[in-house]
Amino acid sequence: MSNGQRQEHNTGKRKRVLVTGGAGFIGSHLTARLLHQGHEVLIVDNFLSGPKRNIKHLLHHPRLAIIEQDIIQPLYVEVDEIYNLACPASPVHYQQNPIRTIKTCVIGMLNMLGLTKKNNAKILQASTSEVYGDPDVSPQSETYHGSVSVTGIRACYDEGKRCAETLCYEYRRQHGLDIKVARIFNTYGPRMQINDGRVVSNFIVQALRNEPITIYGDGSQTRSFCYVDDLLGGLQALMASPRDVGGPMNLGSQEEITILELAKRVLLLTGSRSPIKHLPATQDDPKKRRPDLTLANGYLAWSPRTKLNQGLVKTIAYFEELLSMEEESLTL
Ligand code: NAD
Ligand code: UDP
Ligand code: UDP
Repeated sequence: MSNGQRQEHNTGKRKRVLVTGGAGFIGSHLTARLLHQGHEVLIVDNFLSGPKRNIKHLLHHPRLAIIEQDIIQPLYVEVDEIYNLACPASPVHYQQNPIRTIKTCVIGMLNMLGLTKKNNAKILQASTSEVYGDPDVSPQSETYHGSVSVTGIRACYDEGKRCAETLCYEYRRQHGLDIKVARIFNTYGPRMQINDGRVVSNFIVQALRNEPITIYGDGSQTRSFCYVDDLLGGLQALMASPRDVGGPMNLGSQEEITILELAKRVLLLTGSRSPIKHLPATQDDPKKRRPDLTLANGYLAWSPRTKLNQGLVKTIAYFEELLSMEEESLTL
């Protein structure tokens, strides 16, 4: 059993854990898991890209508190651990207000590091494979410095996250903070939004509605998709790792697939009649992405377990239910 999986059953000492972005896709799953493990959880979220629906089932939990606030504002609370997840993750969302995205990444990070310092706490930053940009090497290891456009439409997120990492390591060097930086690769699963804009949710929703599957470009670009439950194990294992293990550390799946092949899989698994429609490629779209997981395997004994098909089946079931609820409410 990997360290990440062991964590699930090891409640240990009850901790006060802050999850910024706790209403989001990953944050809502993490919150549920932390509560299940017996911890106290504080969610701070401005509900920009995470709907309140994601945490509806947890609202009355006695160990959960929620503050509706932007992390661009300073935050004064008492916590032991911080998972800094607040930031829109879908290109569609983070490009809607790019300046706000930069502020969230940089000023938000600064505030969370100030909070960590004040509390003598531990912080895990949700960084991203986007720090590698459109990579010249594959798979990408943590030593690769990346190929990122400073001026393109993805830069608000990519450069924002890069600066956030820099802040983490300067706070470690200057103030001795216990920081953990996870470079998360494409993650998918239930509780993505219907209008999230990312590829897995787009394809599944389009397939279930028998609408055209929109492929940006020729579909030869690759991604490696990690199921959300697997990722949580990695995040918690990294948080629990010794002080000298600060990352940056890749977390994700190595099951690489082209976007065209993903479209075909979703069509097959949904039994959809949707046609495939090619749209123009988006600017600076990375052509390939696959993590080198040597560090996570070695330091955390972590690797993902869920095969893409298994995870897709679970995610399709979630969207089927969500869409049928939506239809029901329209007919009422
Ligand atoms: P998401 O958009 O579903 O969730 C982000 C949450 O943060 C939302 O609830 C949103 O309302 C909240 N938020 C955004 N800006 C905020 C702000 N300024 N103040 C307070 N709350 C704010 O995204 P996700 O997929 O759950 O991703 C979570 C984190 O993981 C993000 O930081 C993202 O960059 C990182 N990440 C995700 C992936 C992935 O594939 N899902 C990959 C790499 C990195
Ligand atoms: N900060 C915060 N909560 C705290 C402590 C600090 O939000 O409990 C913010 C604070 O507003 C500041 C940032 O974190 O802008 C960095 O704090 P730090 O103490 O490192 O720097 P300084 O306040 O000296 O600039
Ligand atoms: N993509 C696509 N159709 C869509 C949404 C995305 O072809 O409807 C492509 C997109 O161009 C990219 C890949 O799928 O090459 C992954 O996109 P996503 O937005 O999910 O994540 P990211 O680009 O951040 O990896």
